[in-house]
Amino acid sequence: MISEKMVSYVNNSSAIRAMFEEGKRLAAIYGAENVYDFSLGNPNLPAPQEVKEAIHQILEEEDPVLVHGYMGNSGYDDVREAVAASLNRRFGTSFAGEHIVMTVGAAGGMNVIMKTLLNPGDEVLAFAPYFGEYRAYVTNYDSVLKVVPPNTEDFQPDLLEFERRITPKTKAVIVNTPNNPTGVVYSEETIRGLADILRRKQQEYGTAIYLISDEPYRELVYDGNEVPYLTNYYENTIVGYSFSKSLSLPGERIGYLVLPPSLEDGEAIRSAANVATRILGYVNAPSLFQRVIMRCLDAQVDVDYYNRNREALYEGLSKVGLTCIKPQGAFYLFVKSPLEDEKEFCEAAKRHNLLLVPGSSFDCPGYVRLAYCVSYEMIERSLPHFAELMEEIREEGKA
Ligand code: PLP
Repeated sequence: MISEKMVSYVNNSSAIRAMFEEGKRLAAIYGAENVYDFSLGNPNLPAPQEVKEAIHQILEEEDPVLVHGYMGNSGYDDVREAVAASLNRRFGTSFAGEHIVMTVGAAGGMNVIMKTLLNPGDEVLAFAPYFGEYRAYVTNYDSVLKVVPPNTEDFQPDLLEFERRITPKTKAVIVNTPNNPTGVVYSEETIRGLADILRRKQQEYGTAIYLISDEPYRELVYDGNEVPYLTNYYENTIVGYSFSKSLSLPGERIGYLVLPPSLEDGEAIRSAANVATRILGYVNAPSLFQRVIMRCLDAQVDVDYYNRNREALYEGLSKVGLTCIKPQGAFYLFVKSPLEDEKEFCEAAKRHNLLLVPGSSFDCPGYVRLAYCVSYEMIERSLPHFAELMEEIREEGKA
């Protein structure tokens, strides 16, 4: 008999699995090129050439015992120092190696920090729409995820609603910018407002409230948009980073946490995160890829490719009458469903071989998410099918 807690996790994850199975089923019937799968955030671009070269160089040049061996649970000291130096160069911060914990992707980092901070019954706030896995990352540690309702005007966090939900039990707030699923970059004004509220509430309750910035999409921004570096705005900020998207390495499971010097109880948090990494069973981030990213801190995937996809899909969908905020970053479009029940819209789309994710997976019903980390050609081929879908909906008098 599986644990009671796992029963609900299994039920929830079956929706994503069902979508994946549906894609395979449709591909078997119609051919893979005639199925337009916008459901997965799996980068379609190859990792930059620097990554391949780094792997070869490391295997040729570095001591294999070191490359494949255990190290301190927070990672290789030289890698942590290189990450800190790179952040300091880019964001004017003053981190040292001791402020960096290498992690098993963003998901691993989030679990390490939740394990480190949360007591049962503690509250963690997230802004809808949010990456659905946050619920598990919080309830894994018997804490409660409290949701700030979406501001569908521009998908910047609703700060009034946010402030109302902070209580003496609020231990942490998760933000994700550029955002999955909206592609919105939280403005500097939003960040300043958020920081002011948090400072005020910390003082009022005499507690520490940690702002956790989950930012696997930091490097994927368009039109020269800037993503504020949150430790520069709020002392109790923890950054969770991942190379899954910026270097197209999701399967390699590599990222890091920044636990800055300004953090209240910082020393205890850094020691605890080191232990959490071990006792959660990760032990340490993958050793070879720690060494790879040390050599590739300035490398990047071809963001222009995603930008071309963004333009093509945004334009194409607008032309057939679908509306959404033009994303400033990441590789998602969050489109208003023309049917009130967006799940019904996803079902209708599926009949045209278009696979979309319902907004309720992100706690924001009435919208659907499209991931455009797909081939440009697939986007082009899909557009007539969106036109047919919208035609059908209009004919049925539903939109
Ligand atoms: N956070 C967000 C917002 C994501 O979109 C994802 C993956 O899609 C993750 C975390 C997990 O990333 P990783 O593969 O680095 O664990």
